[in-house]
Amino acid sequence: MASDPKLPDLLVSLMDKLTCSVCTQLFTDPVIITCGHTFCKTCLEDQSGNQCPKCQTPVERTLEVNVVLCEMIQQVNGQGGNESQGASGESRRQPERKY
Ligand SMILES: [Zn+2]
Ligand SMILES: [Zn+2]
Repeated sequence: MASDPKLPDLLVSLMDKLTCSVCTQLFTDPVIITCGHTFCKTCLEDQSGNQCPKCQTPVERTLEVNVVLCEMIQQVNGQGGNESQGASGESRRQPERKY
């Protein structure tokens, strides 16, 4: 069996779903809001007016990080990060855990 140099389709589509539409990065501390959309906690906090950046649904104040999504993102990150070896000079930022 030849090794597949590309990421599996499943992983690619997964990464697409795990990408924040505000910062276009994989979620950092993903929170799911009342309309069902998910964004980074920080991205939502940056929004003035407390509404969903996608559908303008008012956002409730209590934002809880979706830990399941967090773990998925960590796994996807671990697999996807294999390919490029420090192409950009930026060091990977590690999200701080406050809780
Ligand atoms: Zn974001
Ligand atoms: Zn929404």
